[in-house]
Amino acid sequence: MKINIKGIPKKELEEKIVSLGGKKYNAVQIMQWLYKRNIYNFSEMTNLSKNLKEMLNEHCCVNELKIVSKKISSIDKTTKYLLECEDKEKIECVLLFHSARNTLCVSSQVGCKFGCIFCATGLSGFKRNLTCAEILDQLILVQRDSKVQINNIVFMGMGEPLENYTETLNAISILMAPEAFNIGPRKITISTVGFVPGIEKLIKEKIPLNLSVSLHSVDDIIRSELMPVNNKYPLGKLLPLVKTYPKITGGKLTFEYTLIDKVNDSFKEIKKLASLTGDIKCKVNLIPFNCVSGVEYKKVKIEQVEKWKKVLENNKITVTVRHEKGSDICAACGQLRALNL
Ligand code: SAH
Ligand code: SF4
Repeated sequence: MKINIKGIPKKELEEKIVSLGGKKYNAVQIMQWLYKRNIYNFSEMTNLSKNLKEMLNEHCCVNELKIVSKKISSIDKTTKYLLECEDKEKIECVLLFHSARNTLCVSSQVGCKFGCIFCATGLSGFKRNLTCAEILDQLILVQRDSKVQINNIVFMGMGEPLENYTETLNAISILMAPEAFNIGPRKITISTVGFVPGIEKLIKEKIPLNLSVSLHSVDDIIRSELMPVNNKYPLGKLLPLVKTYPKITGGKLTFEYTLIDKVNDSFKEIKKLASLTGDIKCKVNLIPFNCVSGVEYKKVKIEQVEKWKKVLENNKITVTVRHEKGSDICAACGQLRALNL
């Protein structure tokens, strides 16, 4: 069977090319053809030897996902893409426009195992990990279709990226590679449910990626109700670990806090959040809960979000509010389910 040459990290690709009779430096040339020029036909890779092109044709191929459909928000042009994998599984990714950057929110898994009770992806269960090539294809296809240069990547789509560790990190290495997408680590954000073993591994890589930790409560009982992962990795394990992240990696740390009406928005919780994060080099991002069909929680009032923001700011904590984008097309945080668009 031919191997898909897309999504092979540089070191492994060099080994593969040498095993096919090529030179190490051919790997860089092939990466440039694939990722910079979108050329998938080996015969068109004019700087490779005839012999290597023949070997590549015989042993390798370049696969690609398919765009099934897309929906564009009439409010803010946010575009949600539904993509189909070779095995017919479907995933979603979302293109978002901010003043200085074009962001792609990518999926890392088909579904998710973690079952957070406020999240559409969690409700649909887990199918499988995405491969590195499938993660990269989201960028490749959206960039080609939209003609928009994407310069910011957030792993905040379907799935838990740190539970699909190897494929996610391989994809990040290709996103960062100068011979591929050349996107700096500070323009890449991994969002995690708080999967401690994955965070431990990531810290050891010492790459200054942005890390977003989905906190959503500072009370173990409430957090365990919302996010079953908290039973295994409670706040007492999670917080001391993530506190070390900025210092060791040089990357930025953000706590995501989705405010759900009358669930995790009490005054007691804000004060506790302020005291727990006060001595951590971090930012808090408040997300008003986005409605999900089948979930009974309610959105908080915007005044409540503003109140939280003020209390945290008074405690000298940097706070941002994530204003919902693409809600008319169900593309906002937690609304990705990969059903038909
Ligand atoms: N699995 C990772 C990344 C994907 S979820 C994680 O959990 O962090 C991306 C973000 O959307 C997370 O912060 C998640 O908690 C949040 N989210 C999920 N459902 C939501 C909803 N209904 N409203 C607002 N945010 C939600
Ligand atoms: Fe999975 Fe993240 Fe959704 Fe939780 S919030 S179910 S970890 S995708």
